[in-house]
Amino acid sequence: MLLTEIDAVNWNAIPTPRPRPRTAGGHDGARTGRPDPAAGLRALAAARDLTAAASAVSTLTSGSLRRGRTGEVLPAAVVAAPFLLDIVERGHPHARESAVVLLDGAMRSAPLADFSRFRTTAGHDAPLCCAIAELVRARRESLSKCGRSGEYLLATSDAHWRFDIREAAGASGDVLALGTLQGALPAPSFGGELHHGGSATAVGTVTVECPPVRGAAEACLRLAGLAAAPTAGDSLAGAVLYPGTCGDREH
Ligand SMILES: [Zn+2]
Repeated sequence: MLLTEIDAVNWNAIPTPRPRPRTAGGHDGARTGRPDPAAGLRALAAARDLTAAASAVSTLTSGSLRRGRTGEVLPAAVVAAPFLLDIVERGHPHARESAVVLLDGAMRSAPLADFSRFRTTAGHDAPLCCAIAELVRARRESLSKCGRSGEYLLATSDAHWRFDIREAAGASGDVLALGTLQGALPAPSFGGELHHGGSATAVGTVTVECPPVRGAAEACLRLAGLAAAPTAGDSLAGAVLYPGTCGDREH
């Protein structure tokens, strides 16, 4: 079933940087030809021992989901994340641990400048790490039954918080926004990236006015230092806020 789903993806349609030319030594992790994430995922799904799992990981980190030595995360890692999560939940123990390492690494790695975004179903160009974190959080219930590995991935996803604005109003030059918070906003807060109407605006600082109460994600945030202030009557309902630190990092 998983193998069929992996093969059903049109991997060639996913933006992928050209493989780097081999260096004289030929050991930079780059391979000739277009990387094939499906082959690596199939191999990991089928792995039953450490050697097979390590070989699959090597394939996936050599230009398919990440690039070799510098380890930049690639857009295909977002498409691969649901399959890796399937392996975390149901795979052989060795494959399971490898999938956790791949997902964790993908959320912690910087992307390449021209391959740093992934269009979400809501139409926002999210940072790759945040798009993967969202897929991890969507499996919260099943991952929380996967012991330490599942809890570890969920904890990593927290740094890639996301705030969905339901309602917003101007307040002394700032914007007060009500909505739902997923993940954990750091304190003291850093900036954010406000996605609205097909464009993204930098937000200088994001602070929590009313924190989410236990069991619910409802929160009120104060957005200050917007690069472009919303005009009167410009509703921010439906806008999404991502961490500025995630959007800024790239190679
Ligand atoms: Zn992120």
